[in-house]
Amino acid sequence: MGTCRFCGTKDHLLSELLGVCRKCVLNGDWDVIKPHIFSVHAAVRQLVDLPVKPPKAESPDIKLKCNFCLNECRLSANDVSYCGLRNIQKKENGELPYPTKSKGYIHGYIDANPTNCCNSWFCPAGTSAGCPKYSDFNSPEYGTYSYAAFLYGCTFNCLFCQNSSHKYFKKRHLFDIETLANQIVKNEKITCLCYFGGTPESQLPFSIALAELILKKIKDQDPKRLMRICWEWNGSGRRDLVEKCMEIAINSGGNIKFDLKSFNEKLNLALCGVSNKRTLDNFKYLAENYFGTRGDDMPEMSGCTLMVPGYTNDEEVEQIAQFISEINNNIPYSLLVFHGDYQMRDLLITPRKQADRCLEVAKRYLKNVHLGNKFLLGFS
Ligand SMILES: [Zn+2]
Repeated sequence: MGTCRFCGTKDHLLSELLGVCRKCVLNGDWDVIKPHIFSVHAAVRQLVDLPVKPPKAESPDIKLKCNFCLNECRLSANDVSYCGLRNIQKKENGELPYPTKSKGYIHGYIDANPTNCCNSWFCPAGTSAGCPKYSDFNSPEYGTYSYAAFLYGCTFNCLFCQNSSHKYFKKRHLFDIETLANQIVKNEKITCLCYFGGTPESQLPFSIALAELILKKIKDQDPKRLMRICWEWNGSGRRDLVEKCMEIAINSGGNIKFDLKSFNEKLNLALCGVSNKRTLDNFKYLAENYFGTRGDDMPEMSGCTLMVPGYTNDEEVEQIAQFISEINNNIPYSLLVFHGDYQMRDLLITPRKQADRCLEVAKRYLKNVHLGNKFLLGFS
């Protein structure tokens, strides 16, 4: 049971740690609520030695500038990037080299197709879509594998993070692209490569270079072999890099999943610690320029929203669905049932009523809506 320290509401749909309800986040006195939200996120980040906000060193103290994501960190000698991957002191003492185009912090494993990925309900590996150009099967691709590329580091600070192990990486997780590409190409049953995390944004140049190297090796060795490349991300990357990923995904038969965690920026700041402006801008840009270019049965991208109990409710989902529909109402949209994780373990599974309302309202705007983690509803 959480309490809103601004309006006094007590509710099991209120995060104890966040201590502020959805209504107060959106309509309360922002001058008071914003510092409160910031202090909650700062405390959580300090627990794992991450900076409380993106470092913004001024010249002549700047030792490293990074502009791969919205945070645009500028590091002085004592700083660590917001994602944690770039730590000047640890780099200099050899403990934590920076990720580069040819080396990335990654945990890779193979996952049987069709995977439990949010897009398997419309992608070639999970359905009969794209056959024969992007799939050798006229059915779900049982017997093949996806290489799950879990990238360490994140550009957001979601209190409900469902993959918080991305915060704990060591030098031993740093792999070079040649080794990884050879390992993936060697196993002929691997037909998909899926980047997720954390979020891939902090290591976009690495993920692009690895994808390109794999595709080149396959083209040289076995031009008929399929290798669909997908990115699942929070969408906060630099525009030209994001666009490059979209082109690789489209040409290889893959797709891109955007986590649209909120529509209202204030709610995103409360739940995820940073703005969602870049995410919405990138989503709109890619959808307007690339969605539908590959034909009707191979969606190039999708949106996905985790229904955080009490926070990401039907009002929020309606705004997200409307935003997507104004671009194109064929864009696939997944709603995910929430389970308590990381700093929001006190929140229950999304109540069935909230899930039903969200689904109903999303379907009013969009033609392709899907409910993920449906089995969890049995516990709500
Ligand atoms: Zn309140």
